[in-house]
Amino acid sequence: MQMHIKKLNVVGCILYIAAHPDDENTRLIAYLANEVLVQTAYLSLTRGDGGQNLIGPELNEALGVIRTQELLQARQADGSKQFFSRAKDFGFSKNPDETFKIWNKEHLLSDVVWIIRKFRPDIIITSFSTEPGTTHGHHTASAILAHEAFDAAADKTRFPEQLVYVDVWQPKRLLWNTSAFVFQHENYTTENKIKLDVGAFNPFLAKSYGEVAAESRSKHRSQGMGMGTTRGEAFEYLHAEKGHVPKKGIFEDIDLSWNRVEGASALTGIFNEAFHQYNPANPAVSADILLKAKDILESLPDSYWKQVKLNELQEVIRNCLGMYMEAATAASTACPGETIKIKIQIINRSKVPVELKKISYSHTHNETSYSLPLKYDIDKFINYDLPIPDDMPYSEPYWLKNQSSRGMFHIGEQHLIGSPKIHRPYRLITP
Ligand SMILES: [Zn+2]
Repeated sequence: MQMHIKKLNVVGCILYIAAHPDDENTRLIAYLANEVLVQTAYLSLTRGDGGQNLIGPELNEALGVIRTQELLQARQADGSKQFFSRAKDFGFSKNPDETFKIWNKEHLLSDVVWIIRKFRPDIIITSFSTEPGTTHGHHTASAILAHEAFDAAADKTRFPEQLVYVDVWQPKRLLWNTSAFVFQHENYTTENKIKLDVGAFNPFLAKSYGEVAAESRSKHRSQGMGMGTTRGEAFEYLHAEKGHVPKKGIFEDIDLSWNRVEGASALTGIFNEAFHQYNPANPAVSADILLKAKDILESLPDSYWKQVKLNELQEVIRNCLGMYMEAATAASTACPGETIKIKIQIINRSKVPVELKKISYSHTHNETSYSLPLKYDIDKFINYDLPIPDDMPYSEPYWLKNQSSRGMFHIGEQHLIGSPKIHRPYRLITP
């Protein structure tokens, strides 16, 4: 938890881009997410639908559903986020020209641009180079798309239909992680590479990033992808491909502080104080100062970082209070028009006074107001009959709803593109 308080003071973002589940460098991702504490995500163009399944009979689209879940588990282990595009893993491809005969390049460029504009990374890192013939065509294609999207995301004439929902965004630099797959490059460690020791030990996690990476990597079960743990210094090498070439580390000229958000500089001192006064034996003592920070954050004009950090802060506050809430139902299925009985359990395991004011149901947008004090360590149960609307669509992986082509999923709604979640929300809230 103390690490998450420290993270509240880091205002920066990195997007790692490659083609398949398992192309990502989990050790570098774990280091960025937990040591540098920047918001980190992996964009896997495909869901790995074209591979083999070592643990069950599912293949093709069904395997993609399994690998989507494996990637979400991996991201939970290494502390990062996950995105996908509409690309389908159609099997081995010799080079990017062949790949782009089956993938719709313009649609995929639109997807990568959309995710960059939504996630707003300061740095993009690719696993692969744009040089054809060095690896799987999907891999090279992922690097080509990353390079083109780096420029297109900042260009308001490219994919202007997205600008109803998002602003243009210019990442500062694009780096190729030459040590991710060393077969691509015989001199991956030469002097024009940025060298990064990612083997550090994280005292909050009581693990080194080699250990975190092994846990994350071992979630790729359908690929039999376990990896041994490593400890001690471990070097990653990165080559600056686009943007200003940094001499002092990958974050040169990137302000990772609250100074980048207008009116927010007071938060730096408050979060520092919260970090230093944190008491693991009584985390609830941090509630006061964190609630003060929440008031300041809520008073700022709406912005990307306001929303990201409010979400992080609310989770830290809930965890400091030992809050637990669960909504359960005995019904394994329900049809439109039916009502399901939900039992909600909620408990405050701190002496800080907490009141339950509202419960919202994200799928159906139902809301109920309460005025219920939650006393220290007293379990509260609430029964709720949730009506399933007559026109609610059946649950299914949203990318499988429409007929796909050999290389592409067809997704009707822009909002869903990139989402790792299986289910589409009922009645999308549009801006
Ligand atoms: Zn791959």
